Amino acid sequence: MDRRIFGLETEYGLTCTREGRRALGPDEVARHMFRSVVAWGRSSNVFLPNGSRLYLDVGNHPEYATAECDSLADLLAQDEAGTTLLNDLVDEARARLAELELTGTVYLFKNNLDSAGNSYGCHENYLVSRSSDLARLGELLVPFLVSRQIVCGAGRLMRVPDGAGERVEYHVSQRADVMWEGTSSATTRSRPMINTRDEPHADAERYRRLHIIVGDSNLAQSSTLLKVGATDLVLRMHEAGEPLPDLSLVNPAKAIRAVSRDPRGAVPVELTSGRALSATALQREFQERAAAFVDRTGAATAHDAPVLELWDRVLTAIESDRPQDVVRDVDWILKRHLLTRYADRHGLGLEHPRIAQLELAYHDVEPGRGLFALTQARGGATTHVSPADVQQARRHPPATTRAAMRGAFVAAAREHGRDYTVDWTHLRLNDGAGRTVLCKDPFAATDPRVDRLLNAVPQPVSDDPTPA
Ligand code: ATP
Ligand code: MG
Ligand code: MG
Repeated sequence: MDRRIFGLETEYGLTCTREGRRALGPDEVARHMFRSVVAWGRSSNVFLPNGSRLYLDVGNHPEYATAECDSLADLLAQDEAGTTLLNDLVDEARARLAELELTGTVYLFKNNLDSAGNSYGCHENYLVSRSSDLARLGELLVPFLVSRQIVCGAGRLMRVPDGAGERVEYHVSQRADVMWEGTSSATTRSRPMINTRDEPHADAERYRRLHIIVGDSNLAQSSTLLKVGATDLVLRMHEAGEPLPDLSLVNPAKAIRAVSRDPRGAVPVELTSGRALSATALQREFQERAAAFVDRTGAATAHDAPVLELWDRVLTAIESDRPQDVVRDVDWILKRHLLTRYADRHGLGLEHPRIAQLELAYHDVEPGRGLFALTQARGGATTHVSPADVQQARRHPPATTRAAMRGAFVAAAREHGRDYTVDWTHLRLNDGAGRTVLCKDPFAATDPRVDRLLNAVPQPVSDDPTPA
């Protein structure tokens, strides 16, 4: 598939503290945060004019699911736009708490772990052809995903037993330790890396939506670019029928933990073939084949060259024990650098509570306060989209996918105060006629039926034909 639909769903952590203790429950903060959303959308589950979905699920983790993107530049911009939109809602919650004379500081975190050890996700969605062999794809992807954390994990501090006591180690991934199997259709009980639930949000005869739920939430744009871009290249090789070696793992759940515990990327994990390969060696297998594939078949997208270059550079840095060479690009490396620099300056060990606080601060998305946000603002992290692109993506959907029609419809219906219902595939005006358009093709950015629906939006409701 030369053109693909990508979407990222991100769940955020939300807390409100006063003097280091919980001041308000997350349900209460979330309620204040979604007040204006509920006021205009009559629900805490809405689609926005930029084509995205914003909602509050069980567990009070605000979630933003980007609109369907067909380029990584759009995906990065739409993903960051989500963070800024949620930040605005947090500002509203703060103002509301002040009005109610409730004191406390509200924090929104783009991470995957709360202090109680609960995990929440960042789901990647890739459109693949219905004809692709899902079982074979799973076999191919699991070793890729298990090792992928070494190039794009978000990093974590982890308490591990040490004799009679404990010590704190720095691990590569936030999600590794909650993964229990490679592929499954359940998401909570067994926590697979790939969720095989069949919900294509598209013509089910032609497409599947591959739902990868093993990845960490990334702040560094390079990490998101590499996470999604490398996965796209592996999918393309599979789709092109490239001969790829069988790298199946004896025990994926055990392997993903082993990789996460090994920032050098050097500890071998067992393959069913009897071989044992390290995370960097596994990633090299994929990176070298992807580079040769693109060399031979020609770049199919604008991101092929930058992704291959970044992938190679990150692997080289880790293989040669020079992580500092990619400190601006890889979340776990950047965060570790900031934490260890602070710890060294203040003579603290990683187990010190201030280091744990700083770790959380990395994921705090408040501009001017969050550690990553400050680092990026000072030029300490590579950017691939500009602040202007992100601004644009807050209000406008990607122009080249179905999201363009959804965004235009939501914007028009809101402007004219019309009652409407929208999901990934449907646009509906809730008037007497109940006009509904089913948009099965996520690649189609225009459709005469949607044009007709848009023309109907400004018509007063009384003009609508009455239902039969
Ligand atoms: P939930 O998270 O509630 O279990 P879900 O997995 O369907 O449901 P949503 O949060 O609604 O997820 O997000 C769906 C994501 O899939 C969005 O990012 C969207 O852009 C993307 N998407 C929509 N249609 C397709 C498609 N046909 N192929 C790939 N991705 C798609
Ligand atoms: Mg979701
Ligand atoms: Mg999902």
